[in-house]
Amino acid sequence: MKTVPRSRRIAAGILTAGAVLAGALSTAPSSAAPPEGPGQGTCKTFDDPQFTGWTSYAELGRKLRQIERTSGGRVQVDVVGRTTQGRELYTARVGTGDRVLLVQSAIHGNERTGTEALLGILKDLGTGNDPDTRRALENVTLVAMPMVNPDGGELNRRANVVSWDEVVADFPQLADAPRAWYHSLRGDGIELPGFDLNRDFNPDLDYVPQPGDLPGQQTDAGFFLSPESRVIRDVYVDLRDEFGAVDAVVDLHHMGPCDRITGGPQDGRHISVSLDYPPLGVNDGAAYQDDWPLLDQDKSRRYALAVANGIADAYGTQSPLAATGRYFHPDAREYAGQGRSAFALNGSATVLFEVRGQQDDLGQKLKGMLVQTVRTGVESLIDAMATGEVDTLDGDAFFDLPDYGWDDEGSAD
Ligand SMILES: [Zn+2]
Repeated sequence: MKTVPRSRRIAAGILTAGAVLAGALSTAPSSAAPPEGPGQGTCKTFDDPQFTGWTSYAELGRKLRQIERTSGGRVQVDVVGRTTQGRELYTARVGTGDRVLLVQSAIHGNERTGTEALLGILKDLGTGNDPDTRRALENVTLVAMPMVNPDGGELNRRANVVSWDEVVADFPQLADAPRAWYHSLRGDGIELPGFDLNRDFNPDLDYVPQPGDLPGQQTDAGFFLSPESRVIRDVYVDLRDEFGAVDAVVDLHHMGPCDRITGGPQDGRHISVSLDYPPLGVNDGAAYQDDWPLLDQDKSRRYALAVANGIADAYGTQSPLAATGRYFHPDAREYAGQGRSAFALNGSATVLFEVRGQQDDLGQKLKGMLVQTVRTGVESLIDAMATGEVDTLDGDAFFDLPDYGWDDEGSAD
């Protein structure tokens, strides 16, 4: 008999709330908005896009220390680096297993359902004593980085905050080089320079920036120009040195669009979270295979499928929490500088989560549902790694998941 992880049991309460919501919606007058399926909630842009209900940077530190204390030594929290503005970057490690899962959230500062989901997972793994939890702790080592771009997060924007002068101070060899293509002088309406951190990775984990490589382009690797990406890289390398390999890296995001419709068993309803394997160009990254023989795209699809299967098993195919699908991924899509690409080229399975909407769009109820979906997805992957089930899946079955509607240009993950 398959036991049910903690968050899936908790979710029963949320589903009840969803049914109440659905009842309320069904009696509401119709409007010009797209039709809502039962319990799907709505997105809107709130007048005050502050982070009410979202864990702030200051709260994060307190919550992580609290989790560490109550875990009685099970969860270890470390400060592994600092941002340009001096904020601490944390890892929280739990479990003693040989299979290593690194999960990062909010590399885009305003995409933070994953932060909330990770705090819940760490809390439960830190205190739970049920058989599933014990099995997870024995077989998996989870290293969570719940907020890797707090400078951007505190501004409620995507980019971090780094001036080009600060880059040159770190790397004097770049004094006469053009700015990297993913560095901007402003972002999300805020007149502060910074990087799209999720373009700043290079599969050569020892890469040192060279002036001739700049400015680069989307299909090139990035340059490790920001402290945040270097810290994530260092955490990865340390784990690889310790364990021999990092099985998987999960990257938690929001996809921006709020009203994308899924096909499949929830045809016509809004997607909750879309999943992806690394975008490495035509023929499944064939151009990289000679230089990076550890690349295993099918492995990434197996891990992504474990997430989708776990969510479906937990909630059934008709729950709004379970409207998962594939993220925008045309054959030619190539983002060599994303962390998930760089780590995949080093042999890790990497899974991208793209949650419906943007942080600002989510009211409390929809936020709660989507945090729950992300949480169940990550827990399902931990479970599938702990049991070995993830190794037995058919990676091609990932393509049976519905897409979320790719007619236009898609999103910038
Ligand atoms: Zn993102």
